[in-house]
Amino acid sequence: MAQHSSSPENSIGGKDSRPVKTPLNFTLERESSGSKARAATFQTCHGEVRTPIFMPVGTQATVKGQTVDSLKTTGARLILANAYHLLLRPGPEVFKKCRGIHRFMNWDGPVLTDSGGFQIFSLPRSREMNEEGARFQSYVDGKAYLLSPESSIEMQKATGSDIMMVLDQCIDSTAPYAQAEAAMNLTHRWAERSLRARGDSPQALFGIVQGACHHDLRKKSAAFLRELPFDGLAIGGLAVGETHRERYELTELVTEQLPKHRPRYLMGVGTPIDILESVHHGVDMFDCIIPSQLAQRGVAFTSQGKLQLRRSVFKFLEDPVDAQCDCQTCGQYSRAYIHHLVKSDEFLGWHLLGVHNMTFYHRLMREMRQSILRDDFVSYYEKKRLELVRNDEDNPSRSPKNSKTSRPARLGNYEIHTSARGFSSIRQISSGEVMHSVSPPGDEANKLYVEQSFLAARLLKREAPADELVIWDVGLGAASNAMAAIHCFERCHVEKGENALRPLRLVSFERDLDPLTLAAKNPACFPHLRHAAPGQILEYGQWKHATSLLQWELLKGDFRGFIESATIPDLIFYDPFSSKTDSALWTTEIFARIFKRCLPKSAELYTYSASTAVRVALLTAGFFVAQGVGTGPKSDTTIAFTTAKGAGDHPLAPRLLGKGWLTRWRRSGAKFPTTISNEERPRFEKLIETHHQFLSES
Ligand SMILES: [Zn+2]
Repeated sequence: MAQHSSSPENSIGGKDSRPVKTPLNFTLERESSGSKARAATFQTCHGEVRTPIFMPVGTQATVKGQTVDSLKTTGARLILANAYHLLLRPGPEVFKKCRGIHRFMNWDGPVLTDSGGFQIFSLPRSREMNEEGARFQSYVDGKAYLLSPESSIEMQKATGSDIMMVLDQCIDSTAPYAQAEAAMNLTHRWAERSLRARGDSPQALFGIVQGACHHDLRKKSAAFLRELPFDGLAIGGLAVGETHRERYELTELVTEQLPKHRPRYLMGVGTPIDILESVHHGVDMFDCIIPSQLAQRGVAFTSQGKLQLRRSVFKFLEDPVDAQCDCQTCGQYSRAYIHHLVKSDEFLGWHLLGVHNMTFYHRLMREMRQSILRDDFVSYYEKKRLELVRNDEDNPSRSPKNSKTSRPARLGNYEIHTSARGFSSIRQISSGEVMHSVSPPGDEANKLYVEQSFLAARLLKREAPADELVIWDVGLGAASNAMAAIHCFERCHVEKGENALRPLRLVSFERDLDPLTLAAKNPACFPHLRHAAPGQILEYGQWKHATSLLQWELLKGDFRGFIESATIPDLIFYDPFSSKTDSALWTTEIFARIFKRCLPKSAELYTYSASTAVRVALLTAGFFVAQGVGTGPKSDTTIAFTTAKGAGDHPLAPRLLGKGWLTRWRRSGAKFPTTISNEERPRFEKLIETHHQFLSES
């Protein structure tokens, strides 16, 4: 193992640039003046790599929508695949038979394989993590697997990748100190086991710095790992919850601790501006699904900023996507044609925009490298930074508030309301009530409905091919909840592929389409609506995902008229505009009809309301009622289950309302919904007092 000795190259900071050989033959060519940016080259078993470099993501041994030839025309050199996904399918035997991933996918350039730490982290429902590794159930065939540092290295060896990654314990970057420290220590022990498992393999191996957002943990982790004979070091656990500023700070803090003569890889990052900033802070390698994922959504990165090719302004435009781009797409096709392909959900649109976006990324990397070698990176950075930020829709330099005229846009009884925090919602003029008043509509929808119901895990848990998941979206409103579910489906599709997904039927109920119509007319205020689906729902009452696995339909009219005829749901997102304006939808009678409709299945109802009246109505209708997660200033929401087993099996282990709640309820001045008459009260009282939920609690 003498060739892996790292002691001479551990000089950090300073200007020591002695060329030191590592297994990758890493050569630091130039460090920028006035910036931490650096240009380097290293050698892999499949040729030279020049940094800074962007690696297209080929999770399943394919960069989505691209052939190896089209990939090469974009300027791709080093691509990323994922050992976790490849372990589950096609499995190590296939790679052994085909003599490695290069021959298998016909890619003769270098490949980096990720270990699967991040994927295990995103499967909270079906994994169990301990010292040994992570036990989980395959989403492909339900088989139980142990992913350990050793089994991950073994799989990566089977693929014959050029660079392997250690298995790490990735946690939320906002995790508290003790949890972050424990995960970091475990990652360190796993790092040592990975090095032993690597043995004398010629494949390079990178360690991963963890420590969430805690500065001293990040320093500790970097200090620990740089003493080990890794060929490069990665910064993991970022881009999972922290702010941009925190990310840049942590990146700089870690790169200052890392040895100068080994490559540095920032995992899962990011947008063009994120990459520019991170190169400025001393990072060499990046990977991200954004160029391909946004291509699928009809978005192109251009010298004029991000363009949404779906917009009708492009319908007749015969110029290329970006006149300054030299990619094959821009050389051969017009904006009008791409617009047409995107609108028609044609696969070629995704492919062509993918070619264009990846060319944009690789050109950005090449320009940065050239400017570092010329030692004028700082001026390039200053110029490019303004250009990328000015046009980045995810980081708007103007708040939607300032970009609007002073008079809010209106339609019928609704207007656009802009909160003090700068996000927009719909307000009903007559009642003054605002939909999603306390946090951006998309955030609340995600937390309360998509994350809390573990929608992603349910979509991937394919038990039977025909087993369709049905969601009722009661109260379409401005489609925040429906679009949150659709975005969740699309993320799963991009990450895991079509075959891993269960069919999803999303049924929205709404009487009044004015809120959605108004929001859709003002897409600048409602980013979640920049998608083909809402327009189709408004126009045709239905929309289908390109895979046909997701169907969204609108039942327009009074929800009460559809309860007995709509497809029986598994999940109900119960969000009629408000209990004030739609009080008829919050009664025992309605909940009892929903309960009865769901009975053949075990269904779950999620709602933002935690009011006693609503919980009483749910309990007296037969539901088992539990406390849901808080969102923003609302500390409490409600989940209702048709069966006690449903509550028991839920991954959040939600707390059913117990004796304490019952005691408070008995003393409450508002024991019953106002819709219940005095004569009916004793009967309802008995229903609550004898509910199984309270009887079973010891
Ligand atoms: Zn182009």
